[in-house]
Amino acid sequence: MKSSPSEQKYLRQSYLRQRYLQQPVFRRGKGLHSGLEYGLSIEPSDGPLSLCLEGGEALPLSRFSLEGGGRGSDLIFPDESPFARKRVRTCEHVLSALAGMGVWRAKLTVSGTEAGSPGFLEMPGLDGCAEGLAREILEKSAPVGDASVRGSPVREKAELAPFRPAFPVHSGGVAFADPSRTEPSQTGTPRTDPPRFAVALPSPFFHVTCVIDYAAAPIGTRIFEYGGGPEDYLEEIAPARTFVMREDIEALRSAGLALGGSLDSAVVVDAAGTETAGGLRFPDEFVRHKVLDLLGDLACLGRPLAAHVIAVRAGHAQHLQLTEKLRSVLGGA
Ligand SMILES: [Zn+2]
Repeated sequence: MKSSPSEQKYLRQSYLRQRYLQQPVFRRGKGLHSGLEYGLSIEPSDGPLSLCLEGGEALPLSRFSLEGGGRGSDLIFPDESPFARKRVRTCEHVLSALAGMGVWRAKLTVSGTEAGSPGFLEMPGLDGCAEGLAREILEKSAPVGDASVRGSPVREKAELAPFRPAFPVHSGGVAFADPSRTEPSQTGTPRTDPPRFAVALPSPFFHVTCVIDYAAAPIGTRIFEYGGGPEDYLEEIAPARTFVMREDIEALRSAGLALGGSLDSAVVVDAAGTETAGGLRFPDEFVRHKVLDLLGDLACLGRPLAAHVIAVRAGHAQHLQLTEKLRSVLGGA
């Protein structure tokens, strides 16, 4: 049977094509939440994606605990590490840029102070999106196995085998079997708190279907499908900025969050519309940013994923619950 053009796009499995870094990439800037200055170096490595603090030994991402709140994803060093329980906040945009470019072998080092909350560090804010970092990663990397690039040898070992779950894996708290939700649906009463979930279905290639559903009209209900390679990521996903409800800003700031955000790095939304430097970059910038976040959160698996991931009204918590379930399935495989 002949495949349709969109099937052909996915069948190229472009998201699963890998690249390796040829030169280090450096970033310095304010954390989106702490507002404090942090440094990040991303260096070529033969090992899987790993993270350390300055002067320490890097550990694979798969060994970190994950914690996702409404405002970002934290990687927490394991107890056996010299950095036990220290956490690096807001990792999702950096990891999304790496995953979007197909770079799965690199060592990340974060430097900066723990001022604010002890044990808390943060990734530099990257202007609320992944565009600049992803572009630099692309420029400083080459396709795995491409011997023609600057005379570099074929490095087959740089290819990291994708994880292909053989059965559906879903985030905790999925509503399908939640008894507390059966009564309203039986009586036909509208749900006041609609379910949020993320599920990974077996698939020979990678793609995501992301659904957001916000009461605020400028965001609304949107769906976005993505499964492309580096060029697609740079065009469709990387420029989409983080967003915040105007009514939440005061509460976030008094909780010590969003202190590094500005109208350059975020879209502020209220009933009247949106406010941001230069206007929206896409009419559906919000759902595209959600895809950006999801790709970064799934990268905490530490290797590429060959699956169809469906995320409905999901946030970092559901994304990371799915990643943890995938890790446990992978661990037992
Ligand atoms: Zn984000």
